[in-house]
Amino acid sequence: NEERFLEFRLMPYASDQAMLVARDVTRLRSLEKTRKHFVSNVSHELRTPLTVLKGYLEMSEEPPPPAMWAKAHRVMMEQTIRMDNLVNQLLTLSRIEAAPDADLTHLVDMPAMLSILEQEARALSGDRAHQLEFLVQPNLWVRGDQDQLRSAVSNLVYNAIHYTPAERKITVEWRNQGGVGLFAVQDEGEGIAGEHLARLTERFYRVDKARSRHTGGSGLGLAIVKHALSHHDSHLEIESRLGAGSRFSFLIPTRMVVLK
Ligand code: ADP
Repeated sequence: NEERFLEFRLMPYASDQAMLVARDVTRLRSLEKTRKHFVSNVSHELRTPLTVLKGYLEMSEEPPPPAMWAKAHRVMMEQTIRMDNLVNQLLTLSRIEAAPDADLTHLVDMPAMLSILEQEARALSGDRAHQLEFLVQPNLWVRGDQDQLRSAVSNLVYNAIHYTPAERKITVEWRNQGGVGLFAVQDEGEGIAGEHLARLTERFYRVDKARSRHTGGSGLGLAIVKHALSHHDSHLEIESRLGAGSRFSFLIPTRMVVLK
């Protein structure tokens, strides 16, 4: 029952005859709509921090009292980080999308990647002191694109840290499950209501806009994960219970390599 769009053209075909040619432009229209929507979202996301920065900069033409300046400096820093994060995530997403034929022949040392990620995760958790547990099977490598896999796993781990209250538990797992590589991040965070799950990997979809922006979230993280995984014949599984926590996982089929 989907709406379809047709474009008609009258083509002359003999001296006294013409042909009516119809072209189905439904897909073209929908791509165009998605593109416009995306550009408008990006503009909006960038304009908000820019407005804040501009306001503070205008105010500081006359040097404010030191106490106010400290606050202005903090806010300007936060907004700059937010824009920087958004632009970086946009670049990552467009790089991943532009590589439909990602080179999957490289051997990726997942345990080494996850060991670096563990240190970064501890730094990001900082004073919030989450109980971070990394259960990583040694020697379990995969064939794939290192940058894309790193983007996928780090976005999932960073999200767990952002959306889990201080001192709660976050478990990251990487292991061989019956000949297939399994990656999972389980948190004891706020959880996500069922009606949101299907839309979470859409660009700029957020359960709570204000909250995500506050954590510096770009709204692109899970879209990046989805694209990176699709290049590895994999897809993201999300299980979540409101108030109890979430589990984000994926399988890497047949590309697993166990080093001796
Ligand atoms: P963001 O940059 O906003 O985190 P993402 O695409 O990474 O964007 O995630 C989309 C939304 O999914 C988030 O805004 C948040 O509402 C929700 N979300 C993602 N990970 C978690 C998690 N571990 N726990 C609860 N909610 C999450």
